[in-house]
Amino acid sequence: MATTSSVLKPDFGAKRKHFIFTDEHEQLRESIRSFAQKELAPHADEWEETTFPDSVFPRMGGLGFLGLDKPEEYGGQGGDYYSSLVLAEEIAHANSGGLAMGIAVHTDMAMPPILAFGTEAQKQEWVVPAIKGEKILCLGITEPDAGSDVSGIKTRAVLDPAHPNEYVINGSKTYITNGHRADVIVLVTKTDPEAGYDGFTLFLVPMDAPGVIREKRLEKLGMHASDTALLAFQDVRVPDTAVLGQVGKGFYHIMWELQGERLIGAAGCVSGAQLCMERTLQYALERTAFGRQIGKFQVIRHKFAEMATKIEAARQLVYMTAWRFQNGEYPVREISMAKLYASRIAVEVADECIQIHGGAGYMKEYGVERVWRDMRLNRIGAGTDEIMLDVIGRSYGL
Ligand SMILES: Cc1cc2nc3c(=O)[nH]c(=O)nc-3n(C[C@H](O)[C@H](O)[C@H](O)COP(=O)(O)OP(=O)(O)OC[C@H]3O[C@@H](n4cnc5c(N)ncnc54)[C@H](O)[C@@H]3O)c2cc1C
Repeated sequence: MATTSSVLKPDFGAKRKHFIFTDEHEQLRESIRSFAQKELAPHADEWEETTFPDSVFPRMGGLGFLGLDKPEEYGGQGGDYYSSLVLAEEIAHANSGGLAMGIAVHTDMAMPPILAFGTEAQKQEWVVPAIKGEKILCLGITEPDAGSDVSGIKTRAVLDPAHPNEYVINGSKTYITNGHRADVIVLVTKTDPEAGYDGFTLFLVPMDAPGVIREKRLEKLGMHASDTALLAFQDVRVPDTAVLGQVGKGFYHIMWELQGERLIGAAGCVSGAQLCMERTLQYALERTAFGRQIGKFQVIRHKFAEMATKIEAARQLVYMTAWRFQNGEYPVREISMAKLYASRIAVEVADECIQIHGGAGYMKEYGVERVWRDMRLNRIGAGTDEIMLDVIGRSYGL
């Protein structure tokens, strides 16, 4: 029989470190969190009105946060994929979904394809200053008539017969994050509409090129701190050195890019949900009704139990999938599952947190409604729930 001293007690207070993270990752976590809390979060409310300033990029570049997993030869920190995951998690402490998204588009959506498929000259021109935060990147896939169905895009790039080294681009892109502030866009075009998936080509188009028109600042439900643009491309001329990757392989390049983007987005959802739950827990311990803390009502207690279980399940799915990704696998099915599940539970958690706050949850002052509005995007952006379900379902041969 066990003696009293050998009885195992639940270690609810234990500090957990997942096996994918090292002590260095944890130190990085601390420094990003401290930066986000001290330098970003105090401005979160103001930036909801104005969008966050461009100066955040050079500041984060100076701290080394824009190139955590990027090669040292281009000014990055040379870290692994997990370091990028740490950024996605800790930037949630800025309390600004729009800022987190603007940074992620720069570091984890637009930059990876330039590093993976770009020429040395393209990397020097765009990646080196982007890691310093001196140039800002955006990514243009979606168009007014085609989002989920990327194969339906109409933006055309045509070689000019009179100048065989020049392409002329016409078309439009919408919902483009960083579209107003960016220096360059990774642009998805069709070069051969008859060639199906083999007719796409990516371009690096400077946003100050003649014919690039930043048409409109789009107003949104949430993510107010980010800028979202409707863009037009009217007879935009670029040299053939602006082609990113292989002519005709743009569709495959962008599908690869989306995998990393989705997993980073899923990590952001998990940590955003966790933070929202923690704040709500504090509220549930402070707020009283009918003579007791509201958190002590079984109904509310169970809401927390449900939320915590969902968050933990989503986190493990993200981490295990990241582990496979880092180790050279290409787990598209699990990335889709992680994106789908983390986005859904983040919205569910934010919704329950509003409920637990009661009327206060509906007030801007408490910030929970903003989390709900910001999180809602994740079920749409970078591939909707329905598209994720379709990828998962099809992966079983259906
Ligand atoms: C704030 C914000 C920021 C964004 N940032 C960027 C960015 O930086 N760059 C960029 O390129 N894009 C960006 N997007 C675009 C985003 O990725 C698209 O909105 C998204 O992929 C969905 O495309 P859509 O809006 O055209 O919807 P649609 O494709 O028109 O879909 C409408 C509905 O039909 C459903 N549907 C479509 N096809 C199927 C199908 N085969 N089976 C079942 N259901 C289907 C969808 O799931 C959805 O419910 C952003 C969007 C927002 C809102």
